[in-house]
Amino acid sequence: MPERVHLPVVSSAAGSIDAQGHRRRIIPADVSGRFARLRTLTFALLIGLWIALPWIKVKGAPAVLLDVEARRFFLFGLTFNAQDAWLCFFLVSGAAFSLFYVTALLGRGWCGWACPQTVFLEGVFRRVERLIEGSREHRLRDQRSNHGVRVALRSVLKHVAFIILALGVAHIVLSYFVSIPKVWAMVHKSPLDHLEAFGWVVFITAALYGNFVWFREQMCVVLCPYGRMQSVLLDDDSLIVGYDEKRGEPRGKKGTTTGDCVDCNRCVVVCPTGIDIRRGLQLDCIACTACIDACDDVMDRLKRPRGLIRYDSQNGLAKKPKRVLRPRVYLYTVMMLVGATVLTLSIRKRTDFEMNVRRLQGAPYTVENGEIRNAVDVHLVNKRGEAAAFDFSVEGPPNVTAMIPVQHALVPSLGNVHVPVFLTMPTDTYTGDAPVKVKAVRTGSNPPDELAVTLTFLGAKK
Ligand code: SF4
Ligand code: SF4
Repeated sequence: MPERVHLPVVSSAAGSIDAQGHRRRIIPADVSGRFARLRTLTFALLIGLWIALPWIKVKGAPAVLLDVEARRFFLFGLTFNAQDAWLCFFLVSGAAFSLFYVTALLGRGWCGWACPQTVFLEGVFRRVERLIEGSREHRLRDQRSNHGVRVALRSVLKHVAFIILALGVAHIVLSYFVSIPKVWAMVHKSPLDHLEAFGWVVFITAALYGNFVWFREQMCVVLCPYGRMQSVLLDDDSLIVGYDEKRGEPRGKKGTTTGDCVDCNRCVVVCPTGIDIRRGLQLDCIACTACIDACDDVMDRLKRPRGLIRYDSQNGLAKKPKRVLRPRVYLYTVMMLVGATVLTLSIRKRTDFEMNVRRLQGAPYTVENGEIRNAVDVHLVNKRGEAAAFDFSVEGPPNVTAMIPVQHALVPSLGNVHVPVFLTMPTDTYTGDAPVKVKAVRTGSNPPDELAVTLTFLGAKK
């Protein structure tokens, strides 16, 4: 099915929706300039980092591995298990506040420079599309020429390339959840041997392909909740991409007006969301800076100063005083510092090993053959990325005898062991409840890695 192409409708309510409510297919023109170069570099670094993270080892484990199946999570040398799920609250809320903070200061810097949707669409898929189908002008010409065989072949090639790219991305996504060696092993086996992982790869590939071949800017202008929240996150001092109306208007062809905007429409045709930035700040603007580069290029040719469209605040564009430090920035700073402090303390307080002792089910003690017996279960959890061996012992009054069937246990990485401990005391020596310390010392640790829990030996006089 050939793509319908419409030129931007300046009078539409939104850049990608026409006056009748139909979606317009946007084909942005190529743009070059300082921001385009900086964005290319940023995208390359982000994609490189994203590909590298599952390969990089920190303390013997991948830098990032979210092993949901085994409930093991490795994050830059820290190891978490399911019991640490409460820390996610700080991670999620911290990420949200960081985003609010960045938005208050830098507007939609995240959207234009670091959001995966933008990074992959502009950094990978759109580039491949241009490579195969040519520039905007080329594609518009092709579409007017009744879709010849060459156009159809190019279209097929583009879709095949998009599916291959989406497959590659899906496999790297999978490696964040099952590790690179496992993904590699799966690739060499039949999908029937790992149906669940195969299903996820198919699903992610289909979602990515649909998104990058068809949905595109609609993700930012319709679906993304962060995009919808801009009106409350931004204020007149937030940095935005804006048009200097005072300098540009009245617009018109060179020599006919006093404004600097020559109404060349170049800023509109390069916009990936199809909007006209000269209408003022719009929710559809993802601050990609393409219009800045496009207009700077026009200004250079006209020998006029750059910056008719530029990074500035609403106040800056209106030539009003600008403020960087303002109440919402102070508020977000305090909230972020509090969140970061609590998270750091929580992680530092978190121990690598945890030991609990609880009485076995039934009576708290038994009296049999002239002896009082207490039976307890020692539960030891290893939260480290590697296995650890422990020696168990008991310290208590001399009349208490301990029987530990398993005195030495190897606790697997992010695993746990249960060790039963039986304590006995001759009934005629019992003078009251007595404290007993259960100890677990990590084998070979220096200084000794020691865990201890004190419990009360319970009994009764004859
Ligand atoms: S690129 Fe600059 S000069 Fe051309 S229409 Fe846009 S704002 Fe006006
Ligand atoms: S208006 Fe400019 S900065 Fe905003 S999305 Fe369009 S091209 Fe990018």
